[in-house]
Amino acid sequence: MIKYQEIIDNISSGVKKAKNKGTVASYIPELAKVDGNKFGIHLIDASKNSYSAADASEKFSIQSISKVLSLTLCFSIVGNDIWKRINVEPSGSPFNHLSLLEFEKGIPRNPFNNDGAIVVADILISKLKNPKVDFLVFLQKLCNDATITYNKKVAESERITGFKNFAAANLLKSFGNLHNDVEIVLDFYFHLCAIEMNCEQLAKAFFIFMNHGKCLQGETYLNINQIKRINALMLTCGFYDEAGEFAFEVGLPGKSGVGGGIAAVLPNKYTVVTWAPGLNEKGNSKLGMLALEQLTTQTQQSIF
Ligand code: GLN
Repeated sequence: MIKYQEIIDNISSGVKKAKNKGTVASYIPELAKVDGNKFGIHLIDASKNSYSAADASEKFSIQSISKVLSLTLCFSIVGNDIWKRINVEPSGSPFNHLSLLEFEKGIPRNPFNNDGAIVVADILISKLKNPKVDFLVFLQKLCNDATITYNKKVAESERITGFKNFAAANLLKSFGNLHNDVEIVLDFYFHLCAIEMNCEQLAKAFFIFMNHGKCLQGETYLNINQIKRINALMLTCGFYDEAGEFAFEVGLPGKSGVGGGIAAVLPNKYTVVTWAPGLNEKGNSKLGMLALEQLTTQTQQSIF
């Protein structure tokens, strides 16, 4: 039996002593207010045992981690048609990069760079009656937790400073790959990024990716082949131009967000979420990556 609690306690006290904790994102002004010394970690194993350390129950802005959840809902509704509008290749470029989108005629490289997630939001708007409400209901059910909601201040802060996302959405529109109004799609996209959750809630949400599509309560959301595809995308694209480094250091499919969260899974074994707001140059949580590298090294388990 692996002693997960002992391991995450050790990791937590170790990383908290790090001198360089990275830089809290400031391009979304609301995010700059977060205390850069926070660190939380929560792990749920295949037998549904939970292990928590430090600030794991404190809510934070999940930002791009929401892209995995919006993709999940979208994939469950439209199936493989989604891949007609979004590719499945790593971009090797930052999350908000634009030039590839123009070169590749409005087809985003993958669903986890901002342009791809904006197309996912567009598809959901076309398919859902009340996109913001319906998405929250989906997420609350997935986690069996009715308290999960949007932080309106963060969404507004993103809108005011979202120049590159407006550029991406307009570029998509010019190529015919955005069917709804730019303003409407981005309002939904900004709200998805502005969802607040803690490490424990996110670990519950990601349980389906380690459990072949079945959530903690036993309901099936995606089939095994669809889960394979989402995990493959997390591994190859979940950390933008640092996906290789994350696979090399950690060896798990995962997704980061500029709020400092990282959600990752070891299929059949566990789902784990870290939160440390300081980011590295690529926009991924510095201490989160360090902690997860230590987790897979100390447990001697990874997908490899
Ligand atoms: N809301 C952020 C943005 O669109 C999400 C980026 C991220 O978390 N990597 O810029």
